[in-house]
Formats: sequence, C-alpha cells, structure tokens
Amino acid sequence: MVEFDGFGPEKILEVHDPKTGMHGFTVVDNTALGPAKGGIRMTPSVTINEVAKLARAMTWKCSLADLPLGGGKSGIVANDKRISRAKKMEIVSAFSRAIKPICPSQYVAAPDMNMAVEEMAEFAKANGAFNSCTGKPASMCMDAEKRKCGIPHEYGSTGYGVFHSALVAAEHIGLDMDGASIAIEGFGNVGTFTMAFLSGVKARVVAVSDSRGCIYNKDGLDYNRLYRTKKKTGSVINHRPGKVLKCGDLFTLPVDMIIPAAVPDSINKSNVNRIRAKIVVEGANIPATPEIEEKLHRRGILVVPDFVANSGGVISSYAEYTGDTTTNMFRLVRNKIRRNTKLVLENARKAGIKPRDAGMEMAVKRVGKAMKRRSY
Ligand code: NAD
Repeated sequence: MVEFDGFGPEKILEVHDPKTGMHGFTVVDNTALGPAKGGIRMTPSVTINEVAKLARAMTWKCSLADLPLGGGKSGIVANDKRISRAKKMEIVSAFSRAIKPICPSQYVAAPDMNMAVEEMAEFAKANGAFNSCTGKPASMCMDAEKRKCGIPHEYGSTGYGVFHSALVAAEHIGLDMDGASIAIEGFGNVGTFTMAFLSGVKARVVAVSDSRGCIYNKDGLDYNRLYRTKKKTGSVINHRPGKVLKCGDLFTLPVDMIIPAAVPDSINKSNVNRIRAKIVVEGANIPATPEIEEKLHRRGILVVPDFVANSGGVISSYAEYTGDTTTNMFRLVRNKIRRNTKLVLENARKAGIKPRDAGMEMAVKRVGKAMKRRSY
C-alpha cells in the first residue's frame, strides 16, 4: 500500500496496453518546485509501492540540489532478459504514449534499471516532446543547429559530482587530497568516473572493487591501466601490481576516504566498527542505513550522504531538460554539488547533527516553502 502524507504522492497513473501487453505506472510525488523528475525502471517485480518510495527520494534529492524540479518515478513490469530488443522498444513506446497526458507537463522521465540511452531515444520519439525525458543520445538534437541535444549518463556527471563532493568533504576536515588514500567500491559508471577525476588531483586511489573482488596497492592504482585491465579481462582483480582481496575487505583498509559506488548496504553491522577511514562519500544509493550512518557519526567519521554526493546525474538531467550544453552541464554539476555539500556539512557541524539530517531539513524546508507559495 502506498502511504500518502502532507507531501504526496500527488498522482499515481497506472497504464495498460492490451495490444503490446505493456503494464506500468508513474508516481508523481510532489511538484511544488517543478515537474516531477525521475527515472523509469523496467523489472518483472517492480511495484507501485517501490516506485512511490523512489519518487519521494527524488523529491528530496531535487530539492536539496536546488533544482526547479519535483520528485517522480516510473515502473514498467517486464523482464527484458526474456523479450526481444524489438519487443522491449515496443513496450517503451507504448508506455511513453500512455503517460503523455502528464509527460512532460507534470513528469519528466529518465533512465533507471534496464533503461538506457536508446530506450530514452525511443521514449522521446513516441512522446513527441524533446524534453519528455533526459539521458537521450548526444546525436539526438532538438534543432538543426544542434544546440539542444541529449546528454547521456555515460558522460560521467554523477562521478564528477561525487569527486567534487569528496574534495569539499576533505577541505571540511582539513584533509589534504594531494596524496590522500582512497578506496572505491564498484568500477561501473560512478566508480570509474570518480576515480578518473580523482587522478587529476593526485589523490592516491589504493583500492578498487567490482563484483569479483578487490584490488589493493598501498602505493596507488593507475586509472588508465586499471580501466584497460577491467575492459580486457572483465575484472579489476587482474590488475598488477596489486593484492587481491575480497569485496568486503575494501571497507576495513587503512585509508583516509571510502567511496561506496556499487550496492546498497555495503556498510553494515558486520563492518561498521572496523572502518578506519575519516570520510565516507556515498556515491551509491543507500550504501548504509540511517542507523549505520549514526554509528559512523558517533565514531567521528564524516559521512556525505547519497542524496548530496550523487546528485550530479539529476543536475545533468536538468541541464539537458533546459537545452543547455555539455560544457555548461559540467559547470552546473560542479557548482551545485560544491555549494550543497558545503552547506550541508556546515549546517550539520553547527547543529551537531548528522549531515543526512541537516540535508533532509534543508530539502523539506524548500519543498514546504514552495507548497505555501503555490496558488491552485
Ligand atoms: P554500474 O552497474 O555501472 O556499476 C556497478 C559496479 O558495481 C560494477 O563495477 C559492478 O561490478 C560492481 N559491483 C557489483 N556488486 C559489487 C560488490 N558486491 N562489491 C563491489 N562491487 C560490486 O552502476 P552505477 O551506475 O555505477 O551505479 C552504482 C551505484 O550508484 C548504484 O547504487 C546506483 O543506484 C548509484 N547511482 C548511480 C547514478 C548514475 O548516474 N549512474 C546516479 C546516482 C546514484
């Protein structure tokens, strides 16, 4: 059962197309700040309840990022491993046409699980409005002069934001990033770009993991060589020189900073008391529960929460939505992430509370204020 409260959801649209068998839903959680922004996930088990929770998380994320966007999310019930590519596109197209009455006027789509750049191209074509979704291919442009084009997630906006969040967090506690030791969990979209940008400031990334294990070298790992190894062999653990460890060992290494960028709950009861880092920057979504973050906080470890550190993706979406260039998008991500991280960490320090609590206070206040201003 979806829970309704003083913020939303404002609207739940469930759609079904008997011809293609498409079944899906969009939850518009709150639009006080602007049209609801959030990705579409395609899984066989997605539920309205799950989508509603994710839509609420987007409300706070967009608010904290200080964007004129609300929170929303969509789900399409389908198993894309069991259907052909053509059938998948047919379903995406049917979903797009079905939610057209609210998209893009009240909801703007984006990629999420099993939905990527080509699916966004299909979605935008079926809807007919260029800004009905973000995460479109760079080759898909609104105008002949190619001024307003897609900005795919593959440009690394999230990793770029995580990188800047990490720099601000280091500054906040007086940690010199030149030579600081860092461990990154996950070497996918977020992890690779975060490491690439960190290489530019001479931080020492000493450990990186993927689903097969962790590679550790206390003298630092070279980004380009590690990237090539992953591409060629399928895993970071084949990189040399380096010691191969288990995925979970990454969290207990003697490093200055840990950047979880893979799975939920990677910091948990079993390792929270053995973490030696001074800072955790959450690149992944929910790598630790609020209770675990509380434990880290009590141990004096600074945690930059997910909705602060990893909002580079949604900031990039906003740039694409407004027809901005890729160069301006990176500038926007940098400025917003640096400002928001600084504000959240300073407010948390002043109030003696966790950064997540300080961030939530700011996000809720902005939405509350916008709701009061709203004329119906
Ligand atoms: P991805 O699929 O590109 O990469 C995930 C990486 O994690 C892969 O390298 C995989 O091998 C690795 N991995 C899987 N299980 C692991 C384990 N047990 N230990 C270590 N590594 C493991 O995913 P992504 O897009 O990089 O997203 C990573 C996280 O960041 C997710 O929590 C996602 O929700 C969050 N996030 C992503 C974006 C984005 O723009 N991509 C934006 C915000 C948040």
